[in-house]
Amino acid sequence: MHQSSLTIDSKLPSVGTTIFTVMSKLAADCGAINLSQGFPDFQAEPALFEATLRAMREGRNQYPPMAGVAELRSAIADKVAALYGAAYDADHEITVTAGATQAIFTAIAAFVRSGDEVIVFEPVYDSYVPAIETVGGKAVYAALRFPDYRPDWQQVRSLLSPRTRMIIINSPHNPTGSLFDAEDLAMLAEITRDTDIVLLSDEVYEHIVFDGAAHQSVAAHPQLAARSMVISSFGKTYHITGWKIGYVLAAGELMSEFRKVHQFNVFTVNTPCQLGIAEYMRDASRHLGLAAFYERKRDFFRSQLGTSRFELLPCRGSYFQLARYSAISDLPDQEFARWLTREIGVAVIPVSAFNHDGHDDRVVRFCFAKQEATLAAAGERLRRV
Ligand code: PMP
Ligand code: GLN
Repeated sequence: MHQSSLTIDSKLPSVGTTIFTVMSKLAADCGAINLSQGFPDFQAEPALFEATLRAMREGRNQYPPMAGVAELRSAIADKVAALYGAAYDADHEITVTAGATQAIFTAIAAFVRSGDEVIVFEPVYDSYVPAIETVGGKAVYAALRFPDYRPDWQQVRSLLSPRTRMIIINSPHNPTGSLFDAEDLAMLAEITRDTDIVLLSDEVYEHIVFDGAAHQSVAAHPQLAARSMVISSFGKTYHITGWKIGYVLAAGELMSEFRKVHQFNVFTVNTPCQLGIAEYMRDASRHLGLAAFYERKRDFFRSQLGTSRFELLPCRGSYFQLARYSAISDLPDQEFARWLTREIGVAVIPVSAFNHDGHDDRVVRFCFAKQEATLAAAGERLRRV
């Protein structure tokens, strides 16, 4: 082991290892059922693998174009046109990325300068603020308050300043499972009108919306779309979180700035997987069926916990279920999550990890993107607590 005598002035002094990595490792160490980090424990369909393998065998193994293979960009353009009535030009307004995480980082790096402010909603997905701070920006926190986690547009308006460069939204929301409704987008349009604020809309759970609700994509709102980077991820939609492929939609003027950074950040994303996804996604039932697929899992998991002492909060979208545990324990959520993992054998995420000041409503997050047998085994343990 080498030891460095350099004085390092960390750009991210308060950042440690992400809570997802920490809890997944603890789950593995304890042999616990892992309902912490968000990933499916079931396979994607063979047709996706076959399409990808075919692309490899056909020799599609060299660099694709910087923005992504034409086949995939055109399939994405057709999907968003069909779903949101939005006309994004495949050549200039769609870029394939190495997952949503890279898309988010690159979008922030492309637009946020030192001293700029970026409004985020708390609880906030963990990658946004470190990305903002790495490029010298400052996160400004709007609240999604327990227990319904609705935005307070009066508060958001009060947080705007001449330095506000970007607002980041995420619906369906990780970790709370809440949604922005059409009225929320209308409010957002109103408060950003006549500003140069860029909107980053993280829509990775766009196809996982329950109880007949429609996903409110910023892409479907012409006034917002004109100032937005809309981000999605195939990892969530096709059960392939480890492939790390996503995409960004944006008006040409915004996209050209995004690509200036993207080309030196990752340049491009692996070719055969892009081609496999391009072929696979042409069957729209594969993404259109996702809401019903996860709604069954949500309902099954909720029924498993029905007679437990966990108090389930509403879940309108995403594959996360929040629960209060005040009937079980007085522990802070970080300690409760570790206790539950070690002693009961079910790993969860403490929601305070998504709050910059550690604010703790004593709520934990369960991921229900799991086989029924996994959810049933977890339910059995959780009912005993
Ligand atoms: N945004 C949100 C809200 C997420 O939940 C996730 C992944 N769980 C991401 C972004 C990152 O997606 P990817 O794995 O495609 O980088
Ligand atoms: N986004 C996933 C979650 O919320 C985890 C991604 C990661 O591990 N960075 O659980």
